[in-house]
Amino acid sequence: GATLGVLGGGQLGRMFVHQAQGMGYFTAVLDADPTSPARLVSHHHIQTGYEDPQGLAELARLSDAVTTEFENVPAAALAALAAQRPVSPAASAVSVAQDRAREKAHFVACGVPCAPYAVIETAEQLAAVSSDLLPGILKTARMGYDGKGQVRVKTPAELAAAWDSVGKVPCVLEKMLPLALECSVIVARGADGGTVHLPVQRNLHRDGILAVTEVFEQNLPPALAQQAVAAAVSIANGLQYVGVLCVEFFVLQDGSLVVNEIAPRPHNSGHYSQNACDVSQFELQVRTVARLPLTQPRQHSPAVMLNLLGDLWFAHGDAAQTPPWAEVLALPGTHLHLYGKRDAKRGRKMGHLNITAATPEAARATALQAAALLGIAPF
Ligand code: ATP
Ligand code: MG
Ligand code: MG
Repeated sequence: GATLGVLGGGQLGRMFVHQAQGMGYFTAVLDADPTSPARLVSHHHIQTGYEDPQGLAELARLSDAVTTEFENVPAAALAALAAQRPVSPAASAVSVAQDRAREKAHFVACGVPCAPYAVIETAEQLAAVSSDLLPGILKTARMGYDGKGQVRVKTPAELAAAWDSVGKVPCVLEKMLPLALECSVIVARGADGGTVHLPVQRNLHRDGILAVTEVFEQNLPPALAQQAVAAAVSIANGLQYVGVLCVEFFVLQDGSLVVNEIAPRPHNSGHYSQNACDVSQFELQVRTVARLPLTQPRQHSPAVMLNLLGDLWFAHGDAAQTPPWAEVLALPGTHLHLYGKRDAKRGRKMGHLNITAATPEAARATALQAAALLGIAPF
C-alpha cells in the first residue's frame, strides 16, 4: 500500500493519520517528540527535527506523498522533500502563511480587505507608524499562535515598549477593529485547481484561543457567508494552493468582512466536520495529498464544537483529575475526541467535543449542558 508522510506530530497530524489509515494508507510522521500525539498512532515515526537532512530523506524514502500539520515547519524542509516526492501544500504557499507581512501583502494582492497595518522591522519604521493604527495589536511576523507573540497597544510609547518586549523582531502592527463576530472557512484545492469548501464556521475566542465553533444555516447572514467563501477561494487560488487551507475572518460592527489570517492545514475551527459533514477536513487533506478527487462536502447535522483545554483537568483545584466524560457522553449527539497528550496544562489543547443534533436549537442546548458539566463558561 501507499504511505502518506506528515511533518509534525501534533493533534492535527494524529487526526490526519487516523483518517489516512481509515482509507487504507500507511503513515509516516516526522516529529522530534517521542510522545507526540501522531507518533503514538502512526505506522512509521522518524524521531528528529525538521532541520535534519537525514530525517527528511528518510521521510521521503518511506512516503509516496507528504503534507504538513504544522505551519511553522521550515519552508526549506518542504522544498527539500518536494525534490523527491509530491508535497502539498507547497513551500511557496506555506512560507506566505508563516509570515504575517507576506500574508497581508497576499490579501491585498487578492483584493480581499484586511485590517489596516504597518510592517515594523526597523526603528525608523516604528517611528513612522501612523497614529491612525492606534489602538492596535502588535503581532510578531512569525511563529505566533493562540494569541502568543501579541501585545495590545494604545499609544506610541506603549508600541515602542511592546516592540522592545518582543525583542525587536519583525512585526506587524494592526489597527484594533470593532468586531461583531469571527468566522472561518475551510477550503480544499486539488492539484487540478478545483476547489471545494466546508460551510462557514462561526468562532468564539477566549483569551486569544478558540473556545467554541458553531455551524448551522442562518448562523451568519447568507450574503456574508457567500462573500467569505469567495474570498477564501480567491486567496487559495492566488497561492496556487494544493491542500486544505483555513481562512479566518472578522465581521465588523458595520457588517463588513475583513480577512484575519490563514492556516495552511486543517484547523481547529473545522473539527466539527468530523461528525457533522459527509467529508471531514481530514478526509479533504488525505484526498488532496493523495491526489484523489474532491467532492463538495455536505453538512448533514447542525454542530457545535467545544475545545477541551487543559484547564478542565484542574476545574476543582490544583490536582489534575479526569473530566466527567461519562456524564457528557450520556448526552445525545456528543462525540469526544482526545489527543492522547499525557500532561494537562492550562491553555493546552487536549481534545474537543463535537455536538450534533437535528436542529440548531437542540445542538446548542446539548452543548450548553456539556459545557456546564465540564466547567466551560456558557456562550
Ligand atoms: P491562531 O491560534 O488562530 O493562529 P493567532 O495567535 O495567530 O491565533 P490572531 O488570529 O492574529 O492570533 O488573533 C487572535 C484573536 O485576537 C483573534 O481571533 C481576535 O479575536 C483578536 N484579534 C486579532 N487581531 C485583531 C484586530 N486587528 N482587531 C480586533 N481583534 C483582533
Ligand atoms: Mg495564527
Ligand atoms: Mg487566528
